[in-house]
Amino acid sequence: MIPASIPPNETERLAELLRYRVLDTAREPAFERITRLASTLLETPIALVSLVDESRQWFKSEVGMGVAQTPRELSFCAHAIHDTTTMVVGDTHTDARFASNPLVLGDPKIRFYAGAPLTTPRGFNVGTLCVIDRKPRVFSSKQAQVLADLAALAVDELELRAARALAEQRAAVLQQTVLIFDNLPQGVVFFDAQFKCVYANKAMGEAFDLPPEQMLGWTPERANTHVAGLCDDPDEVLSRMQGVREVQTGESRSSIFLFARPRPRVMRRTLHRLPDPERPWLAMWTDISHETALLRRSEQEASTDALTGLPNRRAAEAALNTALASGAAVSVALFDVDHFKRVNDTFGHPVGDEVLRRVGQTLAGIARGSDFVGRWGGEEFVAVVRTEVDGARAMAERVRAAVELLETSAGKVTLSAGVARVEKLNELGAVDAKLYEAKRSGRNRVAS
Ligand code: GH3
Ligand code: MG
Ligand code: MG
Repeated sequence: MIPASIPPNETERLAELLRYRVLDTAREPAFERITRLASTLLETPIALVSLVDESRQWFKSEVGMGVAQTPRELSFCAHAIHDTTTMVVGDTHTDARFASNPLVLGDPKIRFYAGAPLTTPRGFNVGTLCVIDRKPRVFSSKQAQVLADLAALAVDELELRAARALAEQRAAVLQQTVLIFDNLPQGVVFFDAQFKCVYANKAMGEAFDLPPEQMLGWTPERANTHVAGLCDDPDEVLSRMQGVREVQTGESRSSIFLFARPRPRVMRRTLHRLPDPERPWLAMWTDISHETALLRRSEQEASTDALTGLPNRRAAEAALNTALASGAAVSVALFDVDHFKRVNDTFGHPVGDEVLRRVGQTLAGIARGSDFVGRWGGEEFVAVVRTEVDGARAMAERVRAAVELLETSAGKVTLSAGVARVEKLNELGAVDAKLYEAKRSGRNRVAS
């Protein structure tokens, strides 16, 4: 007996066999059909789908053999996998390779063998489809063709089986992932490599005001159109939503959208490119309305004077900057309550506070839409007016006259004002100088 040599590509060949994950699996109808057909059509008592493993040949299906495997040293198929064509041994007793083989001398007493290699699409012979008889035979080329065709069918089945297993595995992973995302408060959308939506979670459906299943098959562009429809300025939104396909692997991009429907809210969308060939594109939508409101409130607090509710000095400087940048003529009025220290000293600090609030309200009441008024600090107030100095002076005069008429817990109060045209931020000294002039010349007056 001459055992088969090991094929030169044995390592890769075995890897290919293992890739099918078929060794030691249960019988399956597709392979049973193939051995049954081989045995019937070629009129042999034995037919095998034999896979040549490292040290054994294992039968995925067998007719008439009665065992599931035999050692590789005894295997006829181990010879047959060396070739791409069918190996035929007409009479084992006259073939030096097999004459003393225990499978020839003892059960199943092989006299005739024909084995067609199972050649995979990548060109590896992982085993054979073989037929065996207990008497010598002549095998016609037509019969060899039948065997080769059935062998090709067996390979197709192996491939189909592998593809099915892979798909099931992927589906299981997908389902697992999806379970994680299902109840997340963030909206989650996955797109596949063809940019088709393959998953959208409940939160996404809620934010988009539709059943999430309705998004399946959507392209990113279709999703963008939907988002635009939920906002008040669809064109602006769409113009910002271009280029999503260009997000690179490992990259994230965030943008913020103001949804008007189904209810007003601030949504942040983050696009991620994942190193997952199945679902390389993930969009996450987070409702940041609460955070945005908090931020807005703290920003407002930082620019508002707590006592009077008017904008503070910081806000006043920003308003002056904005006015100067607009290119309009800008004048500034600074107001200072006269002898305010006396109010505090005579009536107490709380009454002083009330006076400041009343003066602030009076100022705010007189200001027009484009005027900015705020508390400059202490008992001083400021107005930024987009006019030449005359307009600002008239406004300051109205304020002065109105304050003079106030009845406060401290009785009558007055204020003085300085007004000047300003072209740069650092020109407020000129306004100060005018205020000083108003004070010096008797108070309760406007100097410009
Ligand atoms: P003048 O006519 O020259 O402006 O005299 P004045 O007393 O108004 O000026 P002065 O700067 O001497 O005093 C301003 C006072 O304003 C001193 C300070 O205690 C008081 N003041 C500043 N901020 C507040 C505040 O928030 N509440 C109260 N009640 N008083 C304040
Ligand atoms: Mg003062
Ligand atoms: Mg004062």
